[in-house]
Amino acid sequence: MKLRRTKHAGWYEVMSACPICGQKGWCRINHEQTIVHCMRVPTDDYFDSIIGRQFRHYLDPNAIPKTKIEIELNKAVDKKPDHHLNRVYRALINEISLSSDHFEHLLQDRFFEEKAIRLREYRSMPSQERYKVAKSVINRLSDPSDLLGVPGFFCTEGRYGPYWTMSGGTGLMLPFRSITNEITGWQIRVDNAPLELSMKGAIKGEILEEIERDANGMRRARCQLRAQDKTMIVELSEKDKKTCHSKSGQFVFSVELKQGQRYWWWSSGSKDNGASIGGPLPVHLALPHPCLKYWSVGQSADTIMDCSEVWVTEGPIKADKAADGLVKPVFGIPGAGAFSLLLEPLKQLGCKHIVFAYDADVVSTPEVQMALEQCVEFFAKKTDMALSLAMWDISQGKGIDDLLDNNFIPRVTPLLE
Ligand SMILES: [Zn+2]
Repeated sequence: MKLRRTKHAGWYEVMSACPICGQKGWCRINHEQTIVHCMRVPTDDYFDSIIGRQFRHYLDPNAIPKTKIEIELNKAVDKKPDHHLNRVYRALINEISLSSDHFEHLLQDRFFEEKAIRLREYRSMPSQERYKVAKSVINRLSDPSDLLGVPGFFCTEGRYGPYWTMSGGTGLMLPFRSITNEITGWQIRVDNAPLELSMKGAIKGEILEEIERDANGMRRARCQLRAQDKTMIVELSEKDKKTCHSKSGQFVFSVELKQGQRYWWWSSGSKDNGASIGGPLPVHLALPHPCLKYWSVGQSADTIMDCSEVWVTEGPIKADKAADGLVKPVFGIPGAGAFSLLLEPLKQLGCKHIVFAYDADVVSTPEVQMALEQCVEFFAKKTDMALSLAMWDISQGKGIDDLLDNNFIPRVTPLLE
């Protein structure tokens, strides 16, 4: 298990697969490997922190094969305050552009208006010469140390001494705006989501390397698998699930090559002199795109438009699309469990009514349903804001963005009187 130290002694961030949710990053484990604070799989036992809601899961101390722990050496620094991040990220906006591929994606696949794409300041993470970008950003600021503590940037040692550059996969960069229009972070929709092995039952394995796509254009990888004391090297294609049953017909194992996570925080917490995006994680407030022209940095969004009713959805693109389609302020949170991050911004905006617009499968996915229930309970306890749920039939679209693209509007149902 790959771990990274956190600010709490004896607690580590799980950088390899979390024993509870199987995802990488954010979830915490104690030194004894008996308790996991998972960020993704809800239970009734939880607490709220600056990175969102953490769910306590107890591991059976006898059942876990204690895996060797590798603790990453971490020379990252603390994240700088929002006003500083905003200054650096806005300098960056002037130094990089939106690639034509990403522009086409937003226009053709996401049905954005051209004007909206421009005003929302999406960008593309360059694949090469990132140090040149970092250098130009420094030239726009006052001092090279201005990049210290800014997630995404880090300083590394080169042949001619230390230099600043940028981490992250190449892809579409999505800015997160605070309620005062400060850009406080980015998510990257990576062009090539990493491949992952999804394994169930008595099997272990890892991806050795990605190889040429198959005749149907599916991604493939050479993998090493261990099952029933045998080690084998196999080539798997994406979405081609292999299941093994015993002679008596009992399930033994299954393995499937899958595309992993698409959206990643732009963060450099694992690099020397880098910074992690967490503590607190950014949330994104989307206003309808015509408002952006009039929204200056430092100006609270409620002076631009009525914020007595605010909508909440998951992810920055959905929030941007929903704000345009509904002509309402819409928060994009970085995960269904991250709602506690909204408490202060909603209070500051003077919100009286929150409308939750999660994907239409909310009622069929027990984990999302539980996150929603806890979210409602949280706001009912902490505020006197009215709470509603936006609902629609999944045949009209999965997310609120799809629904609006298909020219439907959601039904708004009060959750609590
Ligand atoms: Zn987890």
